[in-house]
Amino acid sequence: MSIDLYRIPVKQVQGIRGKKPEELLALGISSVGELLDYYPFRYEDYTLRDLTEVKDGDKVTVQASIAGMPQVHMYGRIKSRLTCKVMVDRLFISAVWFNRHYMKDQLQPGTEIVLTGKWDQKRLQLTVSESELPGKGTTQTGTLQPVYSLTGAIPQKWMRQTLKQAVAQYGDLIPEVLPRELLDKYELMPRKQAVALLHLPGSMQDGLLARKRMVFEELFLFQLKMQAYRALNHDRADGVAHALDLPAVRAFVRALPFKLTASQKQVLAEILHDLQQPYCMNRLLQGDVGAGKTVVAAASLFAVVKAGGQGALMVPTEILAEQHKRSLERLYEPYGIQVSLLTGSLTDRQRRDVLASLQMGMIDVVVGTHALIQEDVYFRSLGLVVTDEQHRFGVNQRSILRRKGMNPDVLTMTATPIPRTLAITAFGDMDVSTLRELPKGRKPIKTYAVTHDMLERVLGFIRREVNEGRQAYVICPLIEESEKLDVQNAIDVHAQLQFAFPEYRVALLHGRMPAAEKDEVMRSFSANETQVLVSTTVIEVGVDVPNATLMVVYDAHRFGLSQLHQLRGRVGRGEHQSFCVLIADPKNEVGKQRMKAMTDTNDGFEIARRDLELRGPGDFFGTKQSGLPDFRLADMVTDFEVMEQARDEAAALVRQPGFWTDAAYIKQREFLQREHIFDSELLD
Ligand code: ADP
Ligand code: MG
Repeated sequence: MSIDLYRIPVKQVQGIRGKKPEELLALGISSVGELLDYYPFRYEDYTLRDLTEVKDGDKVTVQASIAGMPQVHMYGRIKSRLTCKVMVDRLFISAVWFNRHYMKDQLQPGTEIVLTGKWDQKRLQLTVSESELPGKGTTQTGTLQPVYSLTGAIPQKWMRQTLKQAVAQYGDLIPEVLPRELLDKYELMPRKQAVALLHLPGSMQDGLLARKRMVFEELFLFQLKMQAYRALNHDRADGVAHALDLPAVRAFVRALPFKLTASQKQVLAEILHDLQQPYCMNRLLQGDVGAGKTVVAAASLFAVVKAGGQGALMVPTEILAEQHKRSLERLYEPYGIQVSLLTGSLTDRQRRDVLASLQMGMIDVVVGTHALIQEDVYFRSLGLVVTDEQHRFGVNQRSILRRKGMNPDVLTMTATPIPRTLAITAFGDMDVSTLRELPKGRKPIKTYAVTHDMLERVLGFIRREVNEGRQAYVICPLIEESEKLDVQNAIDVHAQLQFAFPEYRVALLHGRMPAAEKDEVMRSFSANETQVLVSTTVIEVGVDVPNATLMVVYDAHRFGLSQLHQLRGRVGRGEHQSFCVLIADPKNEVGKQRMKAMTDTNDGFEIARRDLELRGPGDFFGTKQSGLPDFRLADMVTDFEVMEQARDEAAALVRQPGFWTDAAYIKQREFLQREHIFDSELLD
């Protein structure tokens, strides 16, 4: 019997006392296992370097000897500048300390000292951030020190010390989770060694090997879950084979106010085909912003309802739920299909009504936020779940439904551009459909990047569009640290614009408004009773007002490229020429390149590619891609090859009959159990 480190409270680690357990809890750490899994995101390099080989601006650690008298300048009572001549590698340079004048007494000529800081080649000057005198207990000189992502209360040094202690106390008890044969085949180190090296690497090389092992593990376990799920469910004919009325679906499509694009037809055909099979559909529909995913969902839901089932449409925000409900109602009106909302802002009474109607089958299609899949929601005959613009419908959500005796087909829609191969690999248990084209007649959105001093002209632009009968969005930046500041910002911009356009209605929308108020603002903007909508990024995804032709983004350099692309996708949805104006003062070359990427292309896939390029290899541990599963260490893009290996291995493993019974795979089966992969099985 092995010891479960996830059950040992973190305070068992020597040195964790007082308020520390609580502070660690804020980082999601309560057990020793979780502490050990809290990997650093990069390393600080204190290995000694030769100054003559260091680039200007680099951070270095060097061995120095004091070669002059230290000088202190005080600025007021606290601020100070301490300079001293030192010899480093036969160079005579200045070392500078800010606000540490008390160091002065330690700097006796001839003293040997290790300095870490930023090297200024031109001025032959080192701005010291840390220094170490010889013979003082523990030393970091010559080592790599892990850097953890921490919040205020916990100092880096404490965390380093604590992890060192945790590894010493418990490192040997860390169990292996990968099958023996894979460790051998891919030359991966044992888990306990990898965890120890991540926290205490002797060299960059160690860190890289440890990372390689953990990345494989992360991706393998992820794929194991996917492949096991697929093996257990995919080939099982326990879904509903909907008896679709195809002529009725065709008639519905013909009655739409526009002709479907070839892509839309193709994808709809794929979905209709799946719906008629006795297997459960699990399909990802991806298509760039504005490609027309909603109508595909509407036709699919229509087909299921006509075949006697119910449908659910899950969306990330209440604004979107409202909007989808309105458009579905419009489309379904001639067919007597009942559409209802189920969101967090219903009153208890309303909610009870909706729940009862769903259970009795009086509602055909329900639109809502994730409240839809909660434990107390029962359907009479749920046939299809569509999720729009949000993370995929998880295995766990499926098991909630299954526990309630439902096994609906699932369609997940996303505008996050993921190359197809990547999507198939990442979502190992899904089929993928792609909308490759935008509806015909769309004029490409014209995008301009301007600086703040051109604000007057931007206002003139807004006036011109509105005078022509069009509408405009104005997006205020997102200040990550404080939602309150964001809101204030939006309120200020709103006031300015109201003042600038007394003749129009300028409305304000932000996340802190009550739901009813948000709905009203969106409704009035959709109806063109409001001409200018000042908003925070709450409208980022999905909002569809075809008469809006101008998107203005304040402080655009603060947004990610894919976010800007999403925002821009709010316009260009109708027949009129649309524009996007990015107001930004990029501070550096990358910032400029990002704005250029936006003005160069309207293609979401191309933007995603450039985004990746501009972000570069990023931190030691790689960058994170949104819309894809979130891993601790692995990066879906840069570790793509490992993901493929992991997928193949996991698929091969679960196909091996011995996997489900052999003692050698007990760890992997335990993992699957913890991940609730078998829950659905228990029912059958
Ligand atoms: P997204 O894929 O971003 O969710 P939507 O479904 O919101 O896009 O569609 C964008 C706009 O294009 C909507 O106003 C929709 O009515 C319209 N639309 C969808 N399909 C077509 C089509 N085949 N022809 C013309 N307009 C279309
Ligand atoms: Mg959409």
